[in-house]
Amino acid sequence: MDERELYDSQYSEWQDGGETKIRPLFLKDFQGQDELKKNLSVYIRAAGQRGEPLDHLFLSGPPGLGKTTLANIVANEMGAEIKMTSAPVLEKPKDLAGMLTALEPGSVFFIDEIHRLKPVIEEMLYTAMEDFEIDWVIGQGAAARSIRVPVAPFTLIGATTKSGSVSAPLYSRFGIDLSLSLYDNRDLRKVIERTSRILHIDIEESAVEKLAACSRGTPRIANRLLKRIRDFAEVEGNGTVTDELLSDALARLNIDGCGLGRQDRKILETIVSVYNGGPVGAETLSIHLGEPPESLEDFYEPFLIRKGFLQRTPRGRIVTDAGYAHLGYAPRSKGKENEDGRFLF
Ligand code: ADP
Repeated sequence: MDERELYDSQYSEWQDGGETKIRPLFLKDFQGQDELKKNLSVYIRAAGQRGEPLDHLFLSGPPGLGKTTLANIVANEMGAEIKMTSAPVLEKPKDLAGMLTALEPGSVFFIDEIHRLKPVIEEMLYTAMEDFEIDWVIGQGAAARSIRVPVAPFTLIGATTKSGSVSAPLYSRFGIDLSLSLYDNRDLRKVIERTSRILHIDIEESAVEKLAACSRGTPRIANRLLKRIRDFAEVEGNGTVTDELLSDALARLNIDGCGLGRQDRKILETIVSVYNGGPVGAETLSIHLGEPPESLEDFYEPFLIRKGFLQRTPRGRIVTDAGYAHLGYAPRSKGKENEDGRFLF
């Protein structure tokens, strides 16, 4: 059975817009991030040979790069069960205790947005990670006492878009630390080709290339754009995603040739026109744009920085010459810096 038949037989696309169907199940299907994959496969094999669960795994990187996918892959590769949750859902210690004590031996326990754990819950996790036990308080007031409840050996996978916001005691309890970086165009091409194969989308090679360049280094965006462009190809074309159809569809989706969307351009435009190109603090900028600081920092900025259009400095965000040029303005360096670091033209 080839890859397409396998995915066809397991999932139907209409259930969730094809999301489950295109999510890689094993490490060999996970495109790009070669160094990370090589190391991870060694750790998985070593743990398997010893008959132990994999060491706790810390996964960081911007949204949409494959953290949740990798957690599922680790479970599949280890032949283990996976239980998934997200830090904001864990409100009370009993929420975490309930999940931990129900784990089967060797399971993978995935906590998304692990930087958002409440301190009491984080503390409970420490003993669970280290000793596979949790402290549980029974009774109240003077009669209260703490008992230790065993937890089956498990692998915690903690994912975060903000590795710097995870406390040192929690971070130090992870044995493996893997960081995902934005994908280059070659790897995004592989993601697009794989998704096209699985979803039976006919796409020209040059269109794959162009789409990869417009996907912000992010597989989730590559897949999402591919699905939208397929709609245009089916309704307004002959079903094939051609170079021309793609250019037309991207323009209608407000995505420019560098892959910047409306909000990306608004961010650069705001820094240039309201703050003379910067520096401007992230908080101020987020208020001006009406965009939460997290989405500004985690989603928009990494791509703008990677493109060389934006810089993060200790004094705030600055639009670079390349950013000015992209917006069609004269380069900022021709301007003159005044005392407070702003540029005048
Ligand atoms: P994150 O948890 O980092 O936000 P996800 O794991 O949810 O990201 O990935 C988003 C989608 O992108 C997945 O459903 C999957 O289809 C696709 N994807 C992510 N990484 C890869 C990859 N390396 N190869 C193929 N598809 C990928």
